[in-house]
Amino acid sequence: MEKIKMGKIVEMDGDEMTRIIWKMIKDELLSPYVELNTEYYDLGLPYRDETNDQVSIDAGEAIKKYKVGVKCATITPNAQRVEEYKLKEMWKSPNGTIRAILDGTVFRTPILVSGIKPTVRTWQAPITIARHAYGDVYKASEFRTTKPGKAELVFTSEDGEEERATIYDFECGGVLQGMYNKDSSIESFAHSCFKYAIDTKQDLWFSTKDTISKKYDQTFKLIFENIFNKQYKAKFDELGIEYFYTLIDDAVARVIRSRGGYIWACKNYDGDVMSDMVSTAFGSLAMMTSVLVSPDGNYEYEAAHGTVTRHYYRYLEGEKTSTNPIATIFAWTGALNKRGELDGNKELMDFAAKLEKACIDTIESGRMTKDLVGLWEGSEATALTTEEFIMAIKAELEKALA
Ligand code: NAP
Ligand code: MG
Repeated sequence: MEKIKMGKIVEMDGDEMTRIIWKMIKDELLSPYVELNTEYYDLGLPYRDETNDQVSIDAGEAIKKYKVGVKCATITPNAQRVEEYKLKEMWKSPNGTIRAILDGTVFRTPILVSGIKPTVRTWQAPITIARHAYGDVYKASEFRTTKPGKAELVFTSEDGEEERATIYDFECGGVLQGMYNKDSSIESFAHSCFKYAIDTKQDLWFSTKDTISKKYDQTFKLIFENIFNKQYKAKFDELGIEYFYTLIDDAVARVIRSRGGYIWACKNYDGDVMSDMVSTAFGSLAMMTSVLVSPDGNYEYEAAHGTVTRHYYRYLEGEKTSTNPIATIFAWTGALNKRGELDGNKELMDFAAKLEKACIDTIESGRMTKDLVGLWEGSEATALTTEEFIMAIKAELEKALA
């Protein structure tokens, strides 16, 4: 069989167990069938250190150029990693660096298989969480005071005008906090969300607490509304999808009663909390994909989980691990499918769909990694090693391609 040809994508290698899995996926599931055309960036920690993290910046710029990238999980260094890898500096998270370059929003979607039922009985289709990963409480200034006194919010404009509001006249000790967000960032968030809803033909929900936060959250609500009405409403109507704004409390109740199958856009804190809740209720972090979408239409795909360090240490001892490669495989299929879509390369899209189906079919036939066995409600499940599982998927894929 002739290998499938493809346009270029950006490939970002990573660390530890996921780096091992990365190579297995390429060798067994991709290279034999596709003439892989990637621009390779090694985001493994040793090379980031060697290049003073320039490689992370270069990778981000390359995604801007080719529009599509696929990334392996990477270590975000902390003090212990600085020691372990003898790093020159505690380099920033590559994800943060790339996100800053692309100005994007991260969408997280669970991969569903029958046999692993969501904790919430009504959920039948995935719920995708879009988290606005900028500002709010993550960039706030905080005080704790032990003395009585007056707390004020002061804004001094560039031309010297001053605006003040009393936050509270403290008669005892207490805490206070000042936070911000920017119109430009909220606008990017809105564009990414509307674009992704159109791309995936799903309804978009957005929720804030604008009844209480009459200026801050209200601004989020209005920016979304304006951008939607001006630029996206016609396309939504044409596709028969809906933009739906509601209060965060109402959204939470509706999500639990829903059957799934939509995107839920959340402010930074809400998205942080809700994405952990939704992913846990759907099953496993190892079955969660993630895509960074920039407002001008660049896409970076990856698994939502980390480098699975504990498994890697066992692997180094020569032990066979049972690490789930599904989310990493789906990062690849997501990128190949998007490349195919942008280039009108039907064959490549078809291959990506078949590989995804081979993954699902393998699990649904009762063969899976250990992490899934505990969640399995179907008839007998067999726990396979990482390698055995990838080879089982390969066998399914070969059947589908024959
Ligand atoms: P993690 O790598 O996601 O792993 C946490 C635990 O979850 C694992 O020990 C394992 O549990 C289970 N798990 C996660 N993925 C799995 C998979 N594919 N198959 C089977 N089990 C899986 O998170 P972490 O241990 O907190 O972080 C490890 C490193 O990853 C850190 O250096 C962190 O900086 C980095 N990280 C990177 C990203 C990213 O690049 N996007 C995201 C998060 C974390 P058991 O050990 O119980 O089997
Ligand atoms: Mg969190």
